Parts: sequence; C-alpha cells; structure tokens
Amino acid sequence: MTEENKIRNVIILGSGPAGLTSAIYTGRARLNPLVIAGATFGGQLMTTTLVENFPGFAKGIQGPELMQAMIDQAKNQGAEFVFSNATKVDFSEDIKKVWVGDTEYQAHSVILAVGSRARTMGITGEQEFWAKGVSTCATCDGAFFRDKVVSIIGGGDSAMEEAMFLTKFASKVYLIHRRDEFRASKAMQERVLKNDKIEVLWNTQPVEVIGDTKVTKLKLENTQDKSTSELEVDGMFLAIGHIPNTEFLQGQVELDEQGYVVPHGQTGTSVDGVFVAGELIDKKYKQAIVTAGMGCMAAMDAEKWFAEKE
Ligand code: NAP
Repeated sequence: MTEENKIRNVIILGSGPAGLTSAIYTGRARLNPLVIAGATFGGQLMTTTLVENFPGFAKGIQGPELMQAMIDQAKNQGAEFVFSNATKVDFSEDIKKVWVGDTEYQAHSVILAVGSRARTMGITGEQEFWAKGVSTCATCDGAFFRDKVVSIIGGGDSAMEEAMFLTKFASKVYLIHRRDEFRASKAMQERVLKNDKIEVLWNTQPVEVIGDTKVTKLKLENTQDKSTSELEVDGMFLAIGHIPNTEFLQGQVELDEQGYVVPHGQTGTSVDGVFVAGELIDKKYKQAIVTAGMGCMAAMDAEKWFAEKE
C-alpha cells in the first residue's frame, strides 16, 4: 500500500535529538518533513530522568519532557509524524522508499537518525533494577550516586572515562573487567589506575544483580576459575559498547563492520540524497546536545542538496 501516491521531500527516520532537530530545521526550510518516529519515540532520553547538561535549562529538565518539547517544536514547524517503526527501506532508485509495516512512504531524500542502543549483559536482575541502580549512562545518572559505592562494567575508553566521572560523586568505584588487560587507550588507563577511589576487579564479570527496591549487591564470577562472590554496591553502570540500530539498513547504505553508517563527507552516506546524523555515526561523544547538532548539520546539507537539484 503506497501512501497517497505522494512523493515527499524528506523523510526523517528516528525521533531522538538528532531526528527532531533535523525535523525542526527541514520544517523551517519548508521541506515538509515526515518523521517516522518509532513506536517508542523520543530516543534514549525517554528512559532517563533529570537531564542537567542540555543547555537552556538552569534547573535541568526531565528527559521525556525535553523530547516532548522537541516534538511539539517540530510539529509547529510543519513536521508530520508517524509513531511506528520503519521496517524496511529501498534506496536503490532516485525516489527512496521507506516501509512502516505494509505502508510504503516515498521521498526524494532521507535523513537517517535512528541512533544506537547501549549493549546490555542480559543477566538476572538487570532489567528488574533498570533505573533503580542499573544504568548505561554515567554522565546522565552519576550525580545520583553521591557518596555511594558504584560499579562500572567494561574495559574500553567509555568505561575508563565513566569510572573517572563517577569518582566525582561516588565514595568508591569498582571497575569490573572480564579480562586481565584493558582495551582502552594507555592514557585513559593510566588515569584510572592512579585514582585512589577506583579499584579494578580483573577477570571478573557480574552474573546477577541483587537488591530490594534498589540495587544492593552484585553476584560476581571469576572468568578464569569460575568461582563466585558477592560485592555490596549501590549501582551498576554498563559501559560495554553500543549497538547501532541499523539492522534494517543492511545492504542499503554502506555500514562498517560494527554496523555504524560509514559517513561520506560529514553527513552524507554512500547513497546520494540519504543523509545521516547522531549516534549512527558517533562512536565517541553520545550526548544529546552533540546529536542535536548533527541533526542540524544533516538538515542543512539536505536543504543544500535540494537547492542544487533545482
Ligand atoms: P569498546 O571499546 O567496544 O569496549 C567495550 C568493553 O566492554 C570492552 O572492554 C569489552 O571487553 C567489554 N565488553 C563487551 N561486551 C561485554 C560483555 N558482554 N560482558 C562484559 N564486558 C563486555 O566500547 P567503548 O568503550 O564504548 O568505546 C567505543 C569507541 O568509542 C571506541 O573506539 C573508543 O575508543 C571510543 N571512545 C573514545 C573516548 C575518548 O577518546 N575520550 C571515550 C569513549 C569512547 P573486551 O575488552 O574483553 O572485549
């Protein structure tokens, strides 16, 4: 079923800060964007509480409130919304096709902004204590652990950076890594190993999160001899990498071996007229303000692309 036989100017996939900023900009440029916002719209900020680091809110703002304000702002600029997931795309011809279930939408250009999701461990208690001590974002939630004992899982740069960040608040930080050496850069490792508040538990991984109303303990396993132990903590931060939401884009735009979109220029992709923004190309910063800025860049590049076509 093709939607109204209509060929739109631009379809934006995703409704996190990148997608919604693209929608605001392309809306203001009178490109009448359609946002395929996803069934759980609003991106990762919908699952956070107080956002204290997005400029413009002196006392912070709740994540869902911020995202709703961006949606309202995009609607005021003429963006239309479909609150379902894009399930399939076909970028093989000039007119790009995007499906939401059986409904096919067509457009001259597409902005990809479907983001990434933090990798989780899938261990017992992880979901039960989500946002009750379990988090994937130290930058977002670290301040809630003032004078508490926290753990961070991982051995990459994110784990190092977040362990250091957590020492600003926590009384003690356990850095738990499954091997006996870190993957992180030497400079980051040195900083962590020098910090008195951080204790590294090598060859160790959590196998269960234990608590009552909040996290109280982790059950740990030694990855070498498989012995188990318990560790009293108030929080578990996961920093074990991200997974870009690009499964449905396979074979349509160039992806790298980790599934991230390969940028051509700053916001271009391997397909003319398909642009990309946010965590689909950002392996490093992963902050709402950064992805919003990238959404602006993709929208302005799409606008320029249209102007050059005319
Ligand atoms: P990463 O480099 O992929 O590291 C993920 C870490 O999590 C690895 O140590 C890995 O262990 C561990 N891990 C993965 N799955 C696990 C599991 N199921 N259970 C336990 N541990 C698991 O991811 P990242 O640290 O998020 O970094 C991503 C990219 O961003 C990297 O290129 C990094 O350099 C970059 N980055 C840069 C900065 C900076 O320069 N300031 C800051 C953050 C990130 P193994 O080592 O055993 O595989």
